[in-house]
Amino acid sequence: MTTPDAALPPSPADSSGTPTGDSPARAPAGAIADTLVGALAIPCEEIAAHPEFRALLSIPGIAVDLRYATPDNFVGRNVYGGLDCAYLRREAADAVARAAEWLSRHRPGVTLVVLDALRPQRVQEALWAELEGTPLTKYLAHPARRSIHSFGMAVDVTLLAADGRELDMGTGFDEMTPASHPEFEAEQLAQGGLTAAQLAHRGWLRAAMRHAGFQTISTEWWHFDFGDRDQVRRALPLVL
Ligand SMILES: [Zn+2]
Repeated sequence: MTTPDAALPPSPADSSGTPTGDSPARAPAGAIADTLVGALAIPCEEIAAHPEFRALLSIPGIAVDLRYATPDNFVGRNVYGGLDCAYLRREAADAVARAAEWLSRHRPGVTLVVLDALRPQRVQEALWAELEGTPLTKYLAHPARRSIHSFGMAVDVTLLAADGRELDMGTGFDEMTPASHPEFEAEQLAQGGLTAAQLAHRGWLRAAMRHAGFQTISTEWWHFDFGDRDQVRRALPLVL
């Protein structure tokens, strides 16, 4: 592969999109609950046969490595159990395909790898239970607020080099430290917490995902939303 730093993607300074992240509620719980009235729900077990969802394995040119379906995550165990969660809503999956196609043209040899995608509400609740009472809850949507992952409209991704190793993004996936926050990248770069090469890798990831229509968040370099978060929560069925 060519070196990922050879040409710089958009500056990391514009990295932070909406300031919400998978962060806890900014509105009172009651107001959030009101927006959920009338929302539909689909059990995860029905997703495989559901026409509005697409299997990640049907997307050409990507790798799928769902970390929460292995012990390789901050919880240290498989939180999906036997659930098959390798899906996104079709519009988000189609956008992942566009991001992979964009990368294949602009960064040949670099592969998009999906680390988490559809995360049913029951799994969100299990993760919340693991973090409850710690400051780390700021990295997770409260189950009552609904994670965009639980609608199949958010995806966690990183990039693999041609040799199959992850590109160095400065922190690992779900590493809950300030260096993971796109909003602090300029500061981290100035202080030596992140290098220009690491930020260039993040920049390529963001460029590919934004090209495909995804939005960044301010707190996690690996997380991307498809569509307006409020609209998703209001209009789309929650996966249970
Ligand atoms: Zn995420």
